[in-house]
Amino acid sequence: MGPLRKERPFSSRPPRPVTGIGSAVYTVAMSAPRIRVLDPQTAKRIAAGEVIDRPAAALRELLDNAIDAGARHIAVELDGGGAERLRVVDDGSGMGREDLALSIMPHATSKISTLDDLLRLSTLGFRGEALASIAAVASVELISAERDDEAWRLVSEPGHQPVIGPARGSRGTAITIRNLFASFPARRKFLKSAAAEATACRAAFVDKAVAWPEVGFSLRSGGASLVALRPATRVERVLAALAPDQPRELFRELLAQGSGFRARIVAGLPAVYRGDRRLVQVFINGRRVQEYGIAQALEYAYRGALPGGAWPLVWAFIEVDPEQADFNIHPAKKEVRLKNLDDIRAGVIRAIRDYLGSQARHLEAATGHMSPMFDMPVDPGRQRPPEATWAAEKATWSAIADAAARARNEPRPAPRAASDSGTAAGDASRLRYLGQALGVFLAFEDGDELVLMDQHAAHERVLYDQIMAGAVVSQDLLVPVVYDAESEDEDAYIAAHAGSLAAAGYRLVREGRSWLLEAAPAMLPESMTGSIFQLLRSMPDPAELLRETAAQSACKAAIKDGDALDAAGAMALIRAALALPEQRCPHGRPIWLRLGRDDLFRAVRRIV
Ligand code: ADP
Ligand code: MG
Repeated sequence: MGPLRKERPFSSRPPRPVTGIGSAVYTVAMSAPRIRVLDPQTAKRIAAGEVIDRPAAALRELLDNAIDAGARHIAVELDGGGAERLRVVDDGSGMGREDLALSIMPHATSKISTLDDLLRLSTLGFRGEALASIAAVASVELISAERDDEAWRLVSEPGHQPVIGPARGSRGTAITIRNLFASFPARRKFLKSAAAEATACRAAFVDKAVAWPEVGFSLRSGGASLVALRPATRVERVLAALAPDQPRELFRELLAQGSGFRARIVAGLPAVYRGDRRLVQVFINGRRVQEYGIAQALEYAYRGALPGGAWPLVWAFIEVDPEQADFNIHPAKKEVRLKNLDDIRAGVIRAIRDYLGSQARHLEAATGHMSPMFDMPVDPGRQRPPEATWAAEKATWSAIADAAARARNEPRPAPRAASDSGTAAGDASRLRYLGQALGVFLAFEDGDELVLMDQHAAHERVLYDQIMAGAVVSQDLLVPVVYDAESEDEDAYIAAHAGSLAAAGYRLVREGRSWLLEAAPAMLPESMTGSIFQLLRSMPDPAELLRETAAQSACKAAIKDGDALDAAGAMALIRAALALPEQRCPHGRPIWLRLGRDDLFRAVRRIV
C-alpha cells in the first residue's frame, strides 16, 4: 500500500476489480458492469432521497463519489457559485460504458446490493441516488475512463434520454454540472447570491479535504485559485485548510482507541483558542457530522485549561466499525447514530486530558506555576460513589432501584449493599405478593386485607423521602450539562441556592457566564439530569426549593405506569412503602387502596 492510499481500517467492502494503470491483462470480464439497480425492498429501507437543494449539496456528493472511487487528486471548479457550472475531476477508478449508463439511474449503486451491506458500509455513498437527483435538475456531462484513452462520455438533460459516445480522457472521471435548477424556477429562487453559494461550496470542499489528508484537493472559483492542498499529514492538512496562521508546534495528533472505534484527534494546546466553537469539529468515517455528544466531550476535555468563553481548536476523526454507526438516519448523512457513543466520548476525553496534563506538567516544571489542569479529574467517567455511602443504604433501596432500572432497560452501575437492615413494617410473613394489576398496581395480601398499591406513587414517595433525608447518592456526569441562565435574576437565584441543590444531589459549578451541572442524583436516568434547569427557570420560592427539587427528581426517577417489576423488586417496594411515615405521594395523594375481607364481602352482598 503506497503512502497516499486511504486508510479504511474497518473496511469489509468486497474487493473491486483492480484497474491499475498500464495493466495489459484486461479481459472482457473486467469491464462487466458493477453498478446495479437496487431491488425495491432495499431501496425502500434507505432514508429519504438525496437533498440537492444548492450547489454545495451537489458538490458534497460528487466529492464523495471521487473519494469512493479511490481518487488521489480531486480538482473542483465553480462558476456562478456552482449554479452556473460545477466541475469535479478525479483520477479514481473511472467507469466503463455500461456503468456510465447506469450511474445516473435512480437507486443505481456499486456500493451495496443487499440490506446487509448497509451494516458493513465503508464507502461514503450508498444510496445510488446522488447522480440521479442531480441529473433530474441540471445538465450533466460525465466523461469517465477505466484506463487512459478508453473514455466514454455521457450527456444528459433533465427529462431527456442520456446520450453516450466514445471520448478522449485519462483514467478517472470528470463530471460537469451546468445550469442547476434552470428549468425549476421555484427551486432556483431559493439560491443565494453567487458569492454565498461559492462560500457554501468552499465549506463543503474543506470538510472533505480535512477528512482525507492523503488526497490532493484544489478549488477554483470564477477562474481564480481559492484553495490548493497537497497530500499531507493530518495535522498539516487541518492547519492548511482551516487555520493557516497557527504555528504547527502548538498542535499534536493524539490517538484514542476502544471497542469498535479508533480516533485521531488533532488537538491544539490551550495557548490557542477562539471565541466560538467553529473549530471544534467531529468527523466520523470520513464525514463531518453534527455529533453533539462528541463535540461536548471535546469541549469538556479542555474545561479548566481555557479561560471562560474560549473554545479550543480541536478536531476528532473517528473511524467507527460500520456496524456501530448508522448514517442512514439523515438524508445528507450529517447525523449519525452511534451504538458505542459513551466509549468514544470517554476515550476522547482521556486522550486529550492525558496530553494536556503532560503538557501542563512540563510547563509547571519549567515555570514553577501550578496549572489549572491539575484541579480536574483525569477520568471523569461516571464515577461510583464511595463504598461507604453505599453501605449506609438499605438493600431495599437498591433492590427497587435495580428493578426500576431493569424496567427501563438500563444497566445500573450501583453495587448492591451488603446487608438488609430490615425496614419492613410489622411481620413480613403477613405479606403475600399476588402480582401486578392493570400495569399500574401492585396487588398483595397484608394479613386479612387485599392491598392495591400505586407503583409509581409509592416509589416516588420512597425516593422523595430518601432525598429529603439527605440520603441521596450523587453521581458525577461523564459530560456535564451546560446551562446559561436566561436572566440576571435567574443567574443570581442559582448562585444563591447552589448549596441546597447540592443537598439534593445536584452539583452546580459556575463557569464564566454558564453553569455546569457536574453531578446529579444517581437514581436519575441520565437523560433526565438536565431537567433540573426547567425547575430553576421558574425560580421556586426558596423555602420550597428543596421540596420541589426532591419531588421532581423522585418523579423522574420512579418507575412508571406500565413498567414491569419482578417479584423481588415488587416486594422490596411494598416493604419500603409500608414503612413510610407518611403514606401519601409527594403531591398528597394516597398511595394505596386497602380492602378488608368485610369490605369485599359486603361488595358482593355476602352475609357475614
Ligand atoms: P452512490 O454513490 O450512492 O452509489 P451515486 O448516484 O453517487 O450513488 O453514484 C452511482 C454510482 O456511480 C456509484 O455507485 C459509482 O459506482 C458510480 N460513480 C459515480 N461517480 C463516480 C466517480 N467519480 N468515479 C467512479 N465511479 C463513480
Ligand atoms: Mg455517491
